[in-house]
Amino acid sequence: MRYLILSDIHANIQALDAVLEDAAGVGWDACICLGDLVGYGADSAAVLQRIRELAPQWLVRGNHDRVCAGLTSSVTFSPTARVAIEWTRATLSDNDLAMLAALPAGPLVLDADVLLCHGAPHDEDMYVLDTADARLAMSAHRASLCLHGHTHAQTVFSLSPQGLSDVTPARRRSHAITLAPDARWLVNPGSVGQPRDRDSRAAYAVWDGEAGTMDLRRVTYDVPAAQAAIRRAGLPDALARRLASGE
Ligand code: ZN
Repeated sequence: MRYLILSDIHANIQALDAVLEDAAGVGWDACICLGDLVGYGADSAAVLQRIRELAPQWLVRGNHDRVCAGLTSSVTFSPTARVAIEWTRATLSDNDLAMLAALPAGPLVLDADVLLCHGAPHDEDMYVLDTADARLAMSAHRASLCLHGHTHAQTVFSLSPQGLSDVTPARRRSHAITLAPDARWLVNPGSVGQPRDRDSRAAYAVWDGEAGTMDLRRVTYDVPAAQAAIRRAGLPDALARRLASGE
């Protein structure tokens, strides 16, 4: 089974469509979505419609989805994020808001050995940025593979008998790594719609469960169109600019 793994789409329909086109060429059987469908970007309704069509077999909520649905407040958000999520909440239909409100909190169990979450298995809002964070996240469960998002960076942490290490590969268009069965793995496919790892290309991954390979992929997309939508909506200009810098 080949799994398409998407995270942090953030209302960027241009990036999502570019990723889906690239993924169609790669081939996949089932879809996993790790949350933050909305927030920051301007095309929330279009992204939610595309997700309905895609019908991911596994879909967890992100913190932006939760706040947009009104389940928790935006008090912990940066001023820019708060403006964007309040605009999103005001412009989405009741049907779209109900879809966000119904998204489950992670972790979801794909099978006994694979967990899916937005931030970390024990805390959906935790940012796993470095090996210390990864150690904490991996100590919270026993699964061999945990897929997560939230940081908007494509990262791979490995816990083997030799210890815990950051084995994030150099960024290329496609970089398949083998998930050795004698180690445990924590993999972030990166952000489709707002990458922050100094690479403006949309990020996603395809995991081949039988071969044990994780293909970390980057795709160019129409950044000016996504920026124009943000500016047309009157959202903070920093949200448009950061798409070009990937930061
Ligand atoms: Zn996010």
